[in-house]
Amino acid sequence: MNCQLKLKKLVYNWSLVNQICALCGATALQPYALCEPCEQQLPWLDDDHCSRCALPLAMAGMECGQCNRRPPAFERVLAPWHFTFPVDTLISRFKHNRQWPLGRLMAEIAGHALSHHYAEGLPRPDVLLAVPLTRRRLRERGFNQAAMLARWWSRQLAVPFVEHLLVRTR
Ligand SMILES: [Zn+2]
Ligand SMILES: [Zn+2]
Repeated sequence: MNCQLKLKKLVYNWSLVNQICALCGATALQPYALCEPCEQQLPWLDDDHCSRCALPLAMAGMECGQCNRRPPAFERVLAPWHFTFPVDTLISRFKHNRQWPLGRLMAEIAGHALSHHYAEGLPRPDVLLAVPLTRRRLRERGFNQAAMLARWWSRQLAVPFVEHLLVRTR
């Protein structure tokens, strides 16, 4: 092993041990700030959900009553988690308390899940679009969390993000 490789490995190991889990405070030992037990304990959504809107159901491969009665405008929702603790708290801290590292962390883990779907045959989108905020909301909040997510995913998943294609009219 040459010196440079050795050094690279050292730097990599150092970055692993210096990640502190954002949920339990333990050493994460992963390339991002979440330890393996906490990652496993996230409320992952299994296959038993509506094939269109991702609402949890008793069995897989079906559409929920609402999607059946009135099909929504979209074809599919991909949701990695149930909206419950700690995901709900993390989202709220990202959105309302400007805790951007938490948003970044969740985007990265959700991005891994998306990569897995693409590897299994889900078509990659041509572009990523973020729902724009109203001017007033943007002024109040100071940032559009959907655009931040799209920017992070664009880099991670190598899908272009087109920022100003959508205009909010209402
Ligand atoms: Zn942890
Ligand atoms: Zn549904």
